[in-house]
Amino acid sequence: MIDYSKAVMKKKIDNVIKALEENNIKGYRISSREEMFEVLETLVPDGATVGYGGSMTLTDAGVIDWLRWKKNIELFDRARVDDPDECMRKSLVSDVFFTSTNAITEDGWLYNVDGRGNRVSAMIFGPKSVVVIAGWNKIVADLAAAQTRVRKIAAPANCMRLDKQTPCVKTTSCANCKSPDRICRSFVAMGPQGEKNRIKVLILEENLGY
Ligand code: SF4
Repeated sequence: MIDYSKAVMKKKIDNVIKALEENNIKGYRISSREEMFEVLETLVPDGATVGYGGSMTLTDAGVIDWLRWKKNIELFDRARVDDPDECMRKSLVSDVFFTSTNAITEDGWLYNVDGRGNRVSAMIFGPKSVVVIAGWNKIVADLAAAQTRVRKIAAPANCMRLDKQTPCVKTTSCANCKSPDRICRSFVAMGPQGEKNRIKVLILEENLGY
């Protein structure tokens, strides 16, 4: 029996990839983890320095473990060093930077809200190549829907995970708080890029992250 909801989502991914590519962002629809790792092998050359931004998607998809096992790269492994800030600074000039994204719009924009700003900084400028891994749950209609997604899903879930004392943990919706625990500090929408294919977006046919 044909799974029409899956068929619709696949078609939606293909349409988003077309929109991303009109914005000079390379897109890939990924059907399996095996396929994801095959593509990643082509995107991380031997000898590369590699950084990554904080992301449940990267962990859940097995990308962080894959990077740790990968030979012939220098990984700036922010979760396993004594000085994570210095590691994050090095990542800003890495050859390849891995991250997820809070949302991908149907017209090919990436939307992210960041606490420290290291993730969005690296996405904008610095690393020669940026690899974005995202589940199909990150696709939204437009930037307004992207903002809503962050305020009602991504940020409250991340605050819960990090045990933050913010209003959204109690209400599951953003109160634009003034809490010292606030994680929403930089709001970045990335549209048409000047450098063609510097950013690659792999959209997996599954839900991943928040
Ligand atoms: S601004 Fe505050 S309340 Fe709103 S989502 Fe961010 S941390 Fe939660």
